Amino acid sequence: MVPSLYIHIPFCRKKCLYCDFCSVTYNESLAADYVNVLCSQINGLQESFSTIYIGGGTPTVLGNNLLVQLLKSLKKLVFADTEFTVEANPESLNEKAIDILLNTGVNRLSIGVQSFNDDTLKKLGRIHNAQTAYEAVTKASKRGFKNISIDLMFGAWDETIEDWEEELKKAVSLPVQHISTYSLTYEKNTPLCMRKEKGQIQPLENETIAEMYEHAIDYLEDNGFKHYEISNFAKEGFSCRHNLNYWENSPYRGLGISAVSYSEGIRKENITDTLEYIKRVRSGEDIIQFQEKLSNDRRAKETAAVKIRTKKGIDFAWFKKKTGFDFLVLEHEPIASLREKELIDYTRIDGTIKGVSLTKKGFLFCDSVSSELL
Ligand code: SF4
Repeated sequence: MVPSLYIHIPFCRKKCLYCDFCSVTYNESLAADYVNVLCSQINGLQESFSTIYIGGGTPTVLGNNLLVQLLKSLKKLVFADTEFTVEANPESLNEKAIDILLNTGVNRLSIGVQSFNDDTLKKLGRIHNAQTAYEAVTKASKRGFKNISIDLMFGAWDETIEDWEEELKKAVSLPVQHISTYSLTYEKNTPLCMRKEKGQIQPLENETIAEMYEHAIDYLEDNGFKHYEISNFAKEGFSCRHNLNYWENSPYRGLGISAVSYSEGIRKENITDTLEYIKRVRSGEDIIQFQEKLSNDRRAKETAAVKIRTKKGIDFAWFKKKTGFDFLVLEHEPIASLREKELIDYTRIDGTIKGVSLTKKGFLFCDSVSSELL
């Protein structure tokens, strides 16, 4: 199985108010040291990868020189059929950066739009506005990107169903092939969470969030974006191969702080301190902060827990081939309970049961479904 490669760039211009990702404020000299050690690690890679994904943080916050240095170091790993994605934020996606990405083999762009409403963007602490978001997407398309994904967030306090409908309408009017939608979550210790705890923010009711999600599914499907995973929609042929790899619990390699690697049932997590990471890579010390070896049983259950997130769900024959386990035996009790709660159902071909997948209700409660399968 050809693995995927993930590279984490932990820098952003400014921290968004809801963000608990592993990212710090951009600092040019720190970023230069970090890119240097990443390049040395990339040079040492022996494997080949079916997909490469540079995420963050904000990879495009790196100045043009660092971006070129990083992308050129990956050149030996990029082939005609490699899906090569870079995450970008609208404010840092200028024409020069777009050309650098295109000229170094990047063929998929994931843009953190989040909203086309200036008030919402402000509330979330984003530093771009709606106009910048439009321009970033259209510029990228005009200059040659044929595979553009945007992230859209719904469910900010005060947002109405009508506001969300407007966001979706604007999204599908743009030259994008993939849309990821997420509801706003109030992660512990983020400024938004603290404001919520002080009673300064009144989060939307769960019913409203569910209604927004269901509306997204219907609207995006009606407009040619196939719902292929809980939060992801794509035009025909544009599902994200990198993420599909995760949802099949296939091997991946992670470089950079907080990145995770997984292979042969062994999961390793890198340390999260940028300076320490640079120091350790330079001195040849171990950068792993946590490592575990999963039992075969656990591996199979984890495969079930991630694969169920996809619209296709779990095909019994695929599962047996992938894990060596009979799904109906391994997950006997959870299947009964989840079916009773109408969260999953059997999938049939010509009347014969071939697998299981989430029901419409199951998509709303997917995290509970995954936990039960574990
Ligand atoms: S741009 Fe993304 S990673 Fe950076 S602070 Fe905002 S949400 Fe977090």
